Amino acid sequence: MRIVLVGPPGAGKGTQAAFLAGNLSIPHISTGDLFRANISQGTELGKQAKAYMDAGNLVPDEVTIGMAKDRMEQPDAEHGFLLDGFPRNVAQAKALDTMLEAADMKLDAVLDLEVPEDEVVKRIAGRRICRNDSAHVFHVTYSPPKQAGVCDVCGGELYQRDDDSEETVRTRLEVYHTQTEPIIDHYRAQGLVVTISALGKVNEVTDRAMAALRGEHAA
Ligand code: AMP
Repeated sequence: MRIVLVGPPGAGKGTQAAFLAGNLSIPHISTGDLFRANISQGTELGKQAKAYMDAGNLVPDEVTIGMAKDRMEQPDAEHGFLLDGFPRNVAQAKALDTMLEAADMKLDAVLDLEVPEDEVVKRIAGRRICRNDSAHVFHVTYSPPKQAGVCDVCGGELYQRDDDSEETVRTRLEVYHTQTEPIIDHYRAQGLVVTISALGKVNEVTDRAMAALRGEHAA
């Protein structure tokens, strides 16, 4: 299956993507994770991306599209993938359409995670992520780790993302509304959009998402 996951920052895309990709045996491709890996490795691409990310803005398409394409062309993505955080604007969505067409491939679904705005801000402010694996996500109030600052899953150090500060979150939400939300209409026109609520326990949302992906693609 080829799936795109969309939703505002704090909708739980990374967490859900990891479970869904595991259930469906397809790679989880997160452009945010790819950028963060480049930053921690000190690559040229990471240097180009960092200032945009820290400010909560999108990294330019010239950088992002090439990076996403390279990843999608890896052998493990031959039979499917779950894209998390890409595409993030209509130009990227069109580039993805062209890429898939050229390879005679199609998307199966665009899963839209819906969550109210006040909930988003609360979720992000308390979010803590494991340095070893960004799918290990905790929240200081909603799902605290057993020991503060330590990942329950692997013992890794928990940290707050630089772009999870309140001010940056507001910019990221604004960017989501103005630049990313229009891709939902782009895909709705292709009959691909399935919208689910991202509220509730992590496993409830995963079950809801799996049911939606198995069902008809309600547009
Ligand atoms: P994420 O981990 O998906 O929340 O992404 C973190 C940050 O990485 C975003 O706020 C952007 O600055 C950058 N980023 C991730 N994916 C993209 C994309 N598809 N296009 C442009 N910037 C991106």
